[in-house]
Amino acid sequence: MRITVLAGGIGAARFLRGLLAHSPDAEVTVIGNTGDDLTLYGLRVSPDLDTVMYTLGGGNDDARGWGRADESWNALEEIRAYDSVPSWFGLGDRDIGTHLVRTAMLAEGRTLSEATAALTARWRLPVRLIPMTDDRVETHVVVEDPDSPEGRRRMHFQEYWVRHHASLPVVTVDVEGVRDAAPAPGVLEAIAGADLLLLPPSNPVVSVGPILSVPGVREAVRSAPAPVVGLSPIVGGAPVRGMADKLLPAIGVDTSAAGVALHLGARADGGLLDGWLVDERDAESVGRIREAGITARAVPLMMTDVAATAAMAAVALELAEEVRR
Ligand code: GDP
Ligand code: CA
Repeated sequence: MRITVLAGGIGAARFLRGLLAHSPDAEVTVIGNTGDDLTLYGLRVSPDLDTVMYTLGGGNDDARGWGRADESWNALEEIRAYDSVPSWFGLGDRDIGTHLVRTAMLAEGRTLSEATAALTARWRLPVRLIPMTDDRVETHVVVEDPDSPEGRRRMHFQEYWVRHHASLPVVTVDVEGVRDAAPAPGVLEAIAGADLLLLPPSNPVVSVGPILSVPGVREAVRSAPAPVVGLSPIVGGAPVRGMADKLLPAIGVDTSAAGVALHLGARADGGLLDGWLVDERDAESVGRIREAGITARAVPLMMTDVAATAAMAAVALELAEEVRR
Protein backbone atom coordinates (compact mmCIF):
# COMPACT_ATOMS: atom_id res chain seq x y z
CA MET A 1 0.00 0.00 0.00
CA ARG A 2 1.27 3.47 -0.92
CA ILE A 3 0.62 5.91 1.92
CA THR A 4 1.39 9.63 1.63
CA VAL A 5 1.59 11.75 4.78
CA LEU A 6 1.64 15.57 5.02
CA ALA A 7 3.99 16.13 7.94
CA GLY A 8 5.12 18.77 10.40
CA GLY A 9 7.72 17.97 13.04
CA ILE A 10 7.30 16.23 16.38
CA GLY A 11 3.62 15.23 16.12
CA ALA A 12 4.11 13.84 12.63
CA ALA A 13 7.37 12.07 13.45
CA ARG A 14 5.87 10.27 16.44
CA PHE A 15 2.84 9.27 14.40
CA LEU A 16 5.01 7.97 11.57
CA ARG A 17 6.89 5.76 13.98
CA GLY A 18 3.57 4.19 15.01
CA LEU A 19 2.39 3.91 11.41
CA LEU A 20 5.55 2.03 10.43
CA ALA A 21 5.24 -0.25 13.47
CA HIS A 22 1.72 -1.13 12.34
CA SER A 23 2.42 -1.30 8.59
CA PRO A 24 6.11 -2.11 8.14
CA ASP A 25 5.59 -3.03 4.49
CA ALA A 26 3.74 0.12 3.46
CA GLU A 27 5.47 2.33 0.92
CA VAL A 28 5.35 5.64 2.78
CA THR A 29 6.08 9.04 1.26
CA VAL A 30 6.34 11.94 3.70
CA ILE A 31 5.80 15.44 2.35
CA GLY A 32 7.55 17.67 4.88
CA ASN A 33 6.72 21.21 5.91
CA THR A 34 9.50 23.67 5.04
CA GLY A 35 7.69 26.78 6.27
CA ASP A 36 9.69 26.46 9.51
CA ASP A 37 13.01 26.64 7.63
CA LEU A 38 15.30 29.49 8.55
CA THR A 39 18.83 30.76 8.11
CA LEU A 40 20.98 31.05 11.22
CA TYR A 41 24.64 32.14 11.11
CA GLY A 42 24.49 31.46 7.38
CA LEU A 43 23.26 27.90 7.93
CA ARG A 44 20.04 26.72 6.33
CA VAL A 45 18.05 24.86 8.96
CA SER A 46 14.97 22.69 8.22
CA PRO A 47 13.52 21.89 11.65
CA ASP A 48 10.55 19.77 10.56
CA LEU A 49 12.40 17.74 7.92
CA ASP A 50 15.15 17.06 10.46
CA THR A 51 12.75 16.01 13.22
CA VAL A 52 11.19 13.43 10.90
CA MET A 53 14.62 12.33 9.66
CA TYR A 54 16.21 11.96 13.10
CA THR A 55 13.13 10.30 14.63
CA LEU A 56 12.69 7.70 11.89
CA GLY A 57 16.45 7.27 11.49
CA GLY A 58 16.99 6.57 15.19
CA GLY A 59 19.09 9.69 15.80
CA ASN A 60 16.52 11.82 17.60
CA ASP A 61 16.61 12.97 21.20
CA ASP A 62 13.25 11.52 22.18
CA ALA A 63 13.05 13.15 25.60
CA ARG A 64 13.40 16.61 24.06
CA GLY A 65 11.44 15.64 20.95
CA TRP A 66 13.78 17.42 18.52
CA GLY A 67 17.47 17.53 17.74
CA ARG A 68 20.14 14.84 17.92
CA ALA A 69 20.59 12.25 20.63
CA ASP A 70 23.88 12.45 22.57
CA GLU A 71 24.10 16.11 21.68
CA SER A 72 26.63 18.65 22.96
CA TRP A 73 26.33 22.42 22.77
CA ASN A 74 29.86 23.74 22.44
CA ALA A 75 29.31 25.82 19.31
CA LEU A 76 26.24 27.53 20.79
CA GLU A 77 28.16 28.27 24.02
CA GLU A 78 30.89 29.91 21.97
CA ILE A 79 28.33 31.92 19.98
CA ARG A 80 26.75 33.11 23.24
CA ALA A 81 30.13 34.06 24.68
CA TYR A 82 30.60 36.60 21.87
CA ASP A 83 27.24 38.18 22.72
CA SER A 84 27.03 39.75 19.27
CA VAL A 85 24.30 37.85 17.42
CA PRO A 86 20.97 36.37 18.57
CA SER A 87 21.33 32.86 19.97
CA TRP A 88 17.82 31.78 20.94
CA PHE A 89 17.61 28.79 18.60
CA GLY A 90 18.95 25.53 19.98
CA LEU A 91 21.66 24.33 17.62
CA GLY A 92 23.63 21.39 18.94
CA ASP A 93 27.06 20.41 17.66
CA ARG A 94 25.91 17.21 15.94
CA ASP A 95 22.87 18.95 14.48
CA ILE A 96 25.12 21.65 13.03
CA GLY A 97 26.80 18.94 10.95
CA THR A 98 23.46 18.31 9.22
CA HIS A 99 22.96 22.01 8.54
CA LEU A 100 26.51 22.36 7.19
CA VAL A 101 25.90 19.58 4.66
CA ARG A 102 22.53 21.04 3.62
CA THR A 103 23.94 24.56 3.32
CA ALA A 104 26.98 23.37 1.37
CA MET A 105 24.81 21.49 -1.11
CA LEU A 106 22.47 24.46 -1.58
CA ALA A 107 25.49 26.73 -2.08
CA GLU A 108 26.66 24.38 -4.85
CA GLY A 109 23.33 24.92 -6.58
CA ARG A 110 21.68 21.66 -5.54
CA THR A 111 18.02 21.76 -4.59
CA LEU A 112 16.56 21.20 -1.13
CA SER A 113 15.11 17.93 -2.48
CA GLU A 114 18.61 16.80 -3.46
CA ALA A 115 20.06 17.87 -0.14
CA THR A 116 17.26 16.07 1.72
CA ALA A 117 17.83 12.90 -0.31
CA ALA A 118 21.54 13.03 0.54
CA LEU A 119 20.89 13.60 4.24
CA THR A 120 18.22 10.90 4.56
CA ALA A 121 20.41 8.38 2.71
CA ARG A 122 22.76 8.36 5.69
CA TRP A 123 19.91 7.53 8.07
CA ARG A 124 18.46 4.75 5.86
CA LEU A 125 14.96 6.02 6.43
CA PRO A 126 12.11 3.55 6.12
CA VAL A 127 10.14 6.25 4.23
CA ARG A 128 10.76 8.60 1.33
CA LEU A 129 11.01 12.10 2.84
CA ILE A 130 10.55 14.99 0.42
CA PRO A 131 10.19 18.72 1.08
CA MET A 132 6.89 20.35 0.10
CA THR A 133 8.82 22.74 -2.17
CA ASP A 134 12.37 23.49 -3.24
CA ASP A 135 11.60 27.20 -3.25
CA ARG A 136 12.40 29.30 -0.24
CA VAL A 137 9.23 29.92 1.75
CA GLU A 138 9.07 30.94 5.40
CA THR A 139 6.13 31.10 7.76
CA HIS A 140 5.91 34.53 9.37
CA VAL A 141 3.64 35.87 12.06
CA VAL A 142 2.55 39.44 12.61
CA VAL A 143 2.27 40.18 16.33
CA GLU A 144 0.93 43.13 18.26
CA ASP A 145 3.78 45.34 19.45
CA PRO A 146 2.89 48.60 21.16
CA ASP A 147 6.55 49.71 20.99
CA SER A 148 6.75 49.67 17.21
CA PRO A 149 5.48 52.65 15.16
CA GLU A 150 2.83 50.56 13.34
CA GLY A 151 1.71 48.85 16.55
CA ARG A 152 2.66 45.50 15.09
CA ARG A 153 5.76 43.59 14.11
CA ARG A 154 6.51 40.80 11.68
CA MET A 155 8.84 37.95 12.55
CA HIS A 156 9.78 34.45 11.49
CA PHE A 157 7.51 31.83 13.03
CA GLN A 158 10.49 30.24 14.76
CA GLU A 159 11.37 33.53 16.44
CA TYR A 160 7.80 33.83 17.70
CA TRP A 161 7.70 30.18 18.80
CA VAL A 162 11.17 29.53 20.20
CA ARG A 163 12.40 32.96 21.24
CA HIS A 164 9.09 34.34 22.53
CA HIS A 165 7.44 31.01 23.49
CA ALA A 166 4.31 31.99 21.55
CA SER A 167 3.62 34.63 24.21
CA LEU A 168 2.97 37.58 21.86
CA PRO A 169 -0.57 38.27 20.58
CA VAL A 170 -0.77 37.09 16.95
CA VAL A 171 -2.56 39.19 14.35
CA THR A 172 -1.91 37.07 11.25
CA VAL A 173 0.11 34.12 10.03
CA ASP A 174 1.35 33.92 6.46
CA VAL A 175 3.72 31.79 4.47
CA GLU A 176 6.05 34.25 2.80
CA GLY A 177 6.96 33.36 -0.76
CA VAL A 178 4.50 30.51 -1.08
CA ARG A 179 2.41 32.06 -3.85
CA ASP A 180 5.40 31.87 -6.17
CA ALA A 181 6.51 28.46 -4.97
CA ALA A 182 6.12 25.20 -6.85
CA PRO A 183 5.64 21.76 -5.33
CA ALA A 184 8.94 19.88 -5.10
CA PRO A 185 9.51 17.02 -7.56
CA GLY A 186 7.36 14.06 -6.59
CA VAL A 187 4.93 15.94 -4.33
CA LEU A 188 1.92 16.01 -6.66
CA GLU A 189 2.69 12.49 -7.90
CA ALA A 190 2.85 11.19 -4.30
CA ILE A 191 -0.60 12.68 -3.65
CA ALA A 192 -2.22 11.55 -6.88
CA GLY A 193 -0.61 8.10 -6.79
CA ALA A 194 -1.30 7.24 -3.15
CA ASP A 195 -3.66 4.51 -1.98
CA LEU A 196 -4.20 6.52 1.20
CA LEU A 197 -3.52 10.11 2.26
CA LEU A 198 -2.96 10.75 5.96
CA LEU A 199 -2.90 13.99 7.92
CA PRO A 200 -1.05 13.11 11.13
CA PRO A 201 -1.66 15.03 14.37
CA SER A 202 0.41 18.00 13.18
CA ASN A 203 -0.15 21.68 13.80
CA PRO A 204 -2.96 22.71 11.42
CA VAL A 205 -1.76 26.32 11.08
CA VAL A 206 2.02 26.11 10.76
CA SER A 207 2.63 22.50 9.66
CA VAL A 208 -0.24 21.22 7.53
CA GLY A 209 -1.35 24.73 6.50
CA PRO A 210 1.90 25.70 4.74
CA ILE A 211 2.03 22.38 2.83
CA LEU A 212 -1.54 22.87 1.59
CA SER A 213 -0.76 26.45 0.58
CA VAL A 214 1.91 25.43 -1.94
CA PRO A 215 0.15 26.08 -5.28
CA GLY A 216 -1.43 22.89 -6.59
CA VAL A 217 -1.18 20.86 -3.39
CA ARG A 218 -4.61 21.58 -1.90
CA GLU A 219 -6.23 20.87 -5.27
CA ALA A 220 -4.23 17.65 -5.65
CA VAL A 221 -5.43 16.42 -2.24
CA ARG A 222 -8.99 17.41 -3.05
CA SER A 223 -9.01 15.51 -6.31
CA ALA A 224 -6.86 12.53 -5.24
CA PRO A 225 -8.45 9.14 -5.88
CA ALA A 226 -7.35 7.90 -2.43
CA PRO A 227 -9.26 8.47 0.81
CA VAL A 228 -8.00 11.30 3.03
CA VAL A 229 -7.99 10.60 6.76
CA GLY A 230 -6.72 12.89 9.50
CA LEU A 231 -6.01 12.58 13.22
CA SER A 232 -6.80 15.47 15.52
CA PRO A 233 -3.83 17.28 17.09
CA ILE A 234 -6.28 18.90 19.50
CA VAL A 235 -7.46 16.76 22.41
CA GLY A 236 -9.95 18.03 24.97
CA GLY A 237 -9.74 21.58 23.62
CA ALA A 238 -5.94 21.85 23.87
CA PRO A 239 -2.89 20.78 21.90
CA VAL A 240 -1.40 17.74 23.58
CA ARG A 241 2.08 19.17 23.38
CA GLY A 242 3.15 22.55 22.19
CA MET A 243 1.24 25.76 21.70
CA ALA A 244 -1.01 25.21 18.69
CA ASP A 245 -3.85 26.85 20.66
CA LYS A 246 -2.08 30.19 20.23
CA LEU A 247 -2.37 30.04 16.47
CA LEU A 248 -5.79 28.59 15.68
CA PRO A 249 -7.65 31.71 16.90
CA ALA A 250 -5.40 33.82 14.65
CA ILE A 251 -6.85 32.05 11.61
CA GLY A 252 -10.37 32.11 13.06
CA VAL A 253 -10.54 28.43 13.99
CA ASP A 254 -11.95 27.10 17.22
CA THR A 255 -9.36 25.18 19.31
CA SER A 256 -11.19 21.87 19.26
CA ALA A 257 -11.04 18.57 17.40
CA ALA A 258 -14.24 19.54 15.56
CA GLY A 259 -12.96 23.05 14.84
CA VAL A 260 -9.92 21.70 13.02
CA ALA A 261 -12.01 19.13 11.11
CA LEU A 262 -14.48 21.76 9.92
CA HIS A 263 -11.59 24.07 8.99
CA LEU A 264 -10.15 21.33 6.75
CA GLY A 265 -13.64 20.58 5.47
CA ALA A 266 -15.39 17.59 3.91
CA ARG A 267 -14.20 16.44 0.51
CA ALA A 268 -17.79 16.07 -0.61
CA ASP A 269 -18.06 19.80 0.07
CA GLY A 270 -14.90 20.94 -1.71
CA GLY A 271 -12.80 20.39 1.43
CA LEU A 272 -10.07 17.88 2.16
CA LEU A 273 -11.26 15.20 4.56
CA ASP A 274 -13.09 11.92 4.13
CA GLY A 275 -12.37 10.76 7.68
CA TRP A 276 -11.26 12.31 10.98
CA LEU A 277 -10.25 10.70 14.24
CA VAL A 278 -10.84 12.52 17.50
CA ASP A 279 -9.75 11.46 20.96
CA GLU A 280 -12.27 9.60 23.11
CA ARG A 281 -12.46 12.70 25.32
CA ASP A 282 -13.95 14.51 22.32
CA ALA A 283 -16.51 11.81 21.52
CA GLU A 284 -19.34 14.31 21.85
CA SER A 285 -18.05 16.19 18.78
CA VAL A 286 -18.33 13.16 16.47
CA GLY A 287 -21.96 13.97 15.59
CA ARG A 288 -21.14 17.53 14.56
CA ILE A 289 -18.24 16.37 12.38
CA ARG A 290 -20.40 13.69 10.72
CA GLU A 291 -23.10 16.27 10.00
CA ALA A 292 -20.45 18.24 8.10
CA GLY A 293 -19.95 15.20 5.84
CA ILE A 294 -16.79 13.79 7.43
CA THR A 295 -16.79 10.22 8.75
CA ALA A 296 -15.57 10.53 12.33
CA ARG A 297 -14.67 8.18 15.14
CA ALA A 298 -13.53 8.71 18.73
CA VAL A 299 -10.57 6.58 19.87
CA PRO A 300 -7.56 7.08 22.16
CA LEU A 301 -5.26 9.57 20.39
CA MET A 302 -2.43 9.95 22.89
CA MET A 303 0.91 8.96 21.42
CA THR A 304 2.27 7.77 24.76
CA ASP A 305 4.38 5.01 23.22
CA VAL A 306 4.89 3.23 19.91
CA ALA A 307 2.22 0.61 20.65
CA ALA A 308 -0.44 3.22 21.43
CA THR A 309 0.55 5.16 18.31
CA ALA A 310 0.48 2.01 16.15
CA ALA A 311 -3.07 1.41 17.40
CA MET A 312 -4.01 4.94 16.25
CA ALA A 313 -2.55 4.20 12.83
CA ALA A 314 -4.51 0.93 12.70
CA VAL A 315 -7.80 2.78 13.27
CA ALA A 316 -6.88 5.43 10.69
CA LEU A 317 -6.35 2.63 8.14
CA GLU A 318 -9.66 1.03 9.09
CA LEU A 319 -11.47 4.32 8.73
CA ALA A 320 -9.87 4.75 5.30
CA GLU A 321 -11.32 1.42 4.17
CA GLU A 322 -14.70 2.47 5.50
CA VAL A 323 -14.73 5.69 3.46
CA ARG A 324 -12.98 4.33 0.34
CA ARG A 325 -15.25 4.95 -2.60
P1 GDP B 1 6.01 20.49 15.28
O1 GDP B 1 6.26 20.93 13.87
O2 GDP B 1 7.22 19.93 15.96
O3 GDP B 1 5.25 21.48 16.10
O4 GDP B 1 5.09 19.20 15.17
P2 GDP B 1 3.75 18.93 14.39
O5 GDP B 1 3.19 20.13 13.74
O6 GDP B 1 3.95 17.71 13.56
O7 GDP B 1 2.87 18.48 15.60
C1 GDP B 1 2.51 19.35 16.64
C2 GDP B 1 1.15 18.94 17.10
O8 GDP B 1 1.17 17.59 17.56
C3 GDP B 1 0.63 19.78 18.23
O9 GDP B 1 -0.47 20.53 17.76
C4 GDP B 1 0.17 18.76 19.27
O10 GDP B 1 -1.07 19.04 19.77
C5 GDP B 1 0.14 17.46 18.51
N1 GDP B 1 0.45 16.32 19.34
C6 GDP B 1 1.58 16.11 20.03
N2 GDP B 1 1.50 14.95 20.73
C7 GDP B 1 0.26 14.43 20.48
C8 GDP B 1 -0.43 13.25 20.91
O11 GDP B 1 0.07 12.44 21.69
N3 GDP B 1 -1.69 13.07 20.42
C9 GDP B 1 -2.29 13.94 19.55
N4 GDP B 1 -3.53 13.69 19.13
N5 GDP B 1 -1.66 15.07 19.13
C10 GDP B 1 -0.41 15.30 19.59
CA1 CA C 1 7.26 22.63 12.94
